[in-house]
Amino acid sequence: MTSKVETKQFQAETRKVLDIVINSLYTERDIFVRELVSNAADALEKFRHLSLTEKPEFDAHIPLEISIDCDDKKHTLTITDTGIGMTSAELETNLGTIAHSGSGNFLEGLAEAAQKDVNLIGQFGVGFYASFMAADKVTVQTRSWDGSEGHEWQSDGGGSYTVSPCEGLHRGSKIIIDLKEDAHEYGQKFTLERIIKQYSTFIPFPVKVEGKKVNTVEAIWARSKSEITDEEYTEFYKFVGNAFDEPMYRLHFAADAPLAINALLFAPKENFETMGMGRMQPGVNLYCQKVLIDQHSENILPEWLRFVKGVVDSEDLPLNISRQSLQDNALVIKLRRVITKRFLKYLTEEAKKDSDKYQEFWKTFGLFLKEGVTTDFEYQEKLAKLLRFESSAADPGVMISLEDYVGRMKDGQTEIYYINGPSRIAIENGPYVEMFKKREVEILYTLEPIDDFVLSHLGRYDDKKLVSADQADLRLPETTDEGDKEKEKRSEDTLPEEIQQSLCKWMKEVLAERVKEVKPSSRLVDSPAMIVNVNGVMTSSMERIMMAQGAPEEQLAMGGKKDLEINPASPLIRKLAELRVKDQDFAKDVVEQIFDNAMIQAGLLVDPQQMVNRNYRILEKMADGK
Ligand code: ADP
Repeated sequence: MTSKVETKQFQAETRKVLDIVINSLYTERDIFVRELVSNAADALEKFRHLSLTEKPEFDAHIPLEISIDCDDKKHTLTITDTGIGMTSAELETNLGTIAHSGSGNFLEGLAEAAQKDVNLIGQFGVGFYASFMAADKVTVQTRSWDGSEGHEWQSDGGGSYTVSPCEGLHRGSKIIIDLKEDAHEYGQKFTLERIIKQYSTFIPFPVKVEGKKVNTVEAIWARSKSEITDEEYTEFYKFVGNAFDEPMYRLHFAADAPLAINALLFAPKENFETMGMGRMQPGVNLYCQKVLIDQHSENILPEWLRFVKGVVDSEDLPLNISRQSLQDNALVIKLRRVITKRFLKYLTEEAKKDSDKYQEFWKTFGLFLKEGVTTDFEYQEKLAKLLRFESSAADPGVMISLEDYVGRMKDGQTEIYYINGPSRIAIENGPYVEMFKKREVEILYTLEPIDDFVLSHLGRYDDKKLVSADQADLRLPETTDEGDKEKEKRSEDTLPEEIQQSLCKWMKEVLAERVKEVKPSSRLVDSPAMIVNVNGVMTSSMERIMMAQGAPEEQLAMGGKKDLEINPASPLIRKLAELRVKDQDFAKDVVEQIFDNAMIQAGLLVDPQQMVNRNYRILEKMADGK
């Protein structure tokens, strides 16, 4: 027999994970028991599903359960399950390598989390390797459901492990932990009972400690709402989401038509995607009559709802449906539509009930809903109700809905206006909002780079067009008598019409291809000039993002036609008209500088070297006293 023992090296990444687990995780050691029990439960779920699709014969009648046994003298802990087990090939890939793609990032994140907060470790799913927190040696004896030869895997968590054939095993896996000196408590029955009660309440198979069942095997989502306490819900959330925070929202609902559904869904408090842990995997498990069909199902909710955790159970699905066929299954597609709509409706109601709470949620998960608007036409209208933005009519930090905006639109106003900028202060001091302020027209501030894409995908809300304030031909509603006074005032200070026209023509010659036209503005109040976009599709913020992403010139040129609008009442523009006659070269420099300044205020790029040289030339003139 011994001749059959093979010694193998762990993959380099696995060694690093082992190193972190062994050396930086001394607290919260309990989690290793949870990880092993949840692996056992997964193996049982897989077998239960398999027995419906494949009808396995080997050891078919062994009951599905998890047994935990300990020996306080020998200081061992054994976790046995009657799940699918592993073949020798599976042993090697599952317990010798790390499955995560991009393990580099995974390792960095893990090392960082290990230093900061051990709770975060759970989010990484160190899984089986967590056992080395407490073990001198780990032995895995396992035999696959297919009845092939059993094997024993063994390692002390150093650089290598051994695999050898092992006779007399039944279907499933047995994990034997030889406990470290300072981890002997895990060889005691009451410690194990405590941990199992804490972590394993919702495991849908009997969990026995020293032969005694410690959990009640019941699917919480199938119970009636009135019988479930808040604590039970929260515990279940932690269990199903592998989470440590409390849920932010919870939706538990049952329906009979059009499909029989029992669903229990949660929105977490934390967004781990922004914490350096890469893209989240979907968090909802799909069941049929309490049998797990698809864990972390990609089919039951759209991708942009991947932050939602929970369970969907529908007895209308065929029990023996294979995981591969879920994607195209008409019932699953229908189910997904019903659940998605229901969840969005629930969020809309919650937002109405408690807008402060919803704002917290929005700050954490708003980006996912915006992703939904730009990628999923089907739910755009429903998602539009959930969008929130800062606004000129709300205090800094307070966000409003499009519905709020529409509800207080001015008489005669037919469009919803927004403007992008890096901050509220930058927007409020920029040229685009001047006329909005003056006419007291509300304008939304889109402070995130993605926002303009979201609003332009949406196009309309409540039949009102969404318009960026950096578009040309903006027609703001006028307050009639105010408007008249304004016009009178402007005409007093303003350059005469013919001078405006010839100045614009000449400025266009100076700026050549950089602008489509130079035009007198009817919108500017204080600023001398601004850049506006002509074709009504692309905003400056969108152009900036596309440039940063290296979009091809032609694509930018297609969307990015611009006008320069000048303010004929501004002292600078009036003086420019005179300067043009007196000192044409100097006047050209001033035109170029006005253009660059306007580009900067639009958040667009200018050539810094040219601009600085020109700026020095202008300063020199000033110092000369001209
Ligand atoms: P994870 O559970 O996150 O996939 P683990 O490192 O805990 O990561 O386990 C790796 C793999 O080993 C599992 O995906 C599973 O295929 C296999 N495995 C672990 N424990 C068992 C078990 N008790 N029975 C069958 N397979 C198991």
